[in-house]
Amino acid sequence: MSFYGVYSQNKDLDLKKAFSFISPASIQESLEKNNLDTKQFLGLLSPQAENNLESMAQKAQAITRNYFGNTIQLYAPMYLSNYCDNSCLYCGFNLNNDIQRRQLTLEEVEKEAQFISSSGLKHILILTGESRLKSPVSYIQDCVNVLKKYFTSISIEVYPLAENEYARLVVGGVDGLTIYQEVYDEQLYAKIHICGPKKDYKFRLDAPERGAKARMRSVSIGALLGLGNWRREAFFLGLHAKYLLDKFPDVEIGISVPRIRPQNHQPQVGDFKPICQVSDRNVIQIILAFRIFLPRLGIAISTRENPEFRENLLSLGITRMSAGSATNVGGHTLYKEEKEQSSQFEIQDQRTVGQIKAVLEGKGYQPVFKDWLYL
Ligand code: SF4
Repeated sequence: MSFYGVYSQNKDLDLKKAFSFISPASIQESLEKNNLDTKQFLGLLSPQAENNLESMAQKAQAITRNYFGNTIQLYAPMYLSNYCDNSCLYCGFNLNNDIQRRQLTLEEVEKEAQFISSSGLKHILILTGESRLKSPVSYIQDCVNVLKKYFTSISIEVYPLAENEYARLVVGGVDGLTIYQEVYDEQLYAKIHICGPKKDYKFRLDAPERGAKARMRSVSIGALLGLGNWRREAFFLGLHAKYLLDKFPDVEIGISVPRIRPQNHQPQVGDFKPICQVSDRNVIQIILAFRIFLPRLGIAISTRENPEFRENLLSLGITRMSAGSATNVGGHTLYKEEKEQSSQFEIQDQRTVGQIKAVLEGKGYQPVFKDWLYL
């Protein structure tokens, strides 16, 4: 059974009813245990658990230190192309948005790579809009061949691939896969993803498993907060992460919970208002619940969040963060001035790699620039 089977078995979960069985004593009991079941995880995501955030934070901090020490892995995203065949209502690259479309040449990839690697970062995440036609696997591989000269770990965040395509990229030098389901609620997924291949919910949902089978070293999944009910979305994301951890114990599994931010910024193309509000306190509760439920899980924090909030989350369970980010194609060196008009989403944390490194060290963390070597 793939994860779609697990989703199907649980999709009719009555959240209100499930939460009605959760008591302060049951939450306390969960906090005294080491191995939580999925019902206890759901308890930590409940409205009742909002009264226990302090004790959850203490437990999460201890677990994080035990499993990860005081280290934070840093990486940079690099956008290769913003051509996209999909219409996702929340995204600046939506095919219906009137933005400057471009794709980096291999020479331009090299220029961006030189700039990013000069900061010391050795982990790169390459992204494309989801267009098989414009960014075929062969193009991604050509870019990877350039990037291998500069980075020791290369992850991809592209359209979902078949297992043999993932395997081809693994052989070619890719070691990490990031693919977010965006929203687990299948009906809402259909409404938000208007057209294009991304409408295939199941093919996307099972992509992380295909990547793990193809021997990706790390696989990261995520839900975009602000679309569906956040307690339900976080629960299904947790089920998905547990499914992958149990099935692929030799793969590093990670999650991310990017949040659509309220409108407090310069309008961007395709501005989308969150359907559900998710407060800072809600994000904290999600991260704490994940850390306690799945101690070995990598947790990344998005540059959609502001610097102060990112720093506050560090001790609660975060293990990875991006630095020196740009969310437009060629945004590091070539088209810096276009950031606001043609970005995928707005960045709140604009700090450079050096600035983030200094902040981490000042707080007693070791920023990790390289923890993998491609042989
Ligand atoms: S979220 Fe991805 S698939 Fe959807 S419009 Fe943006 S780039 Fe395209």
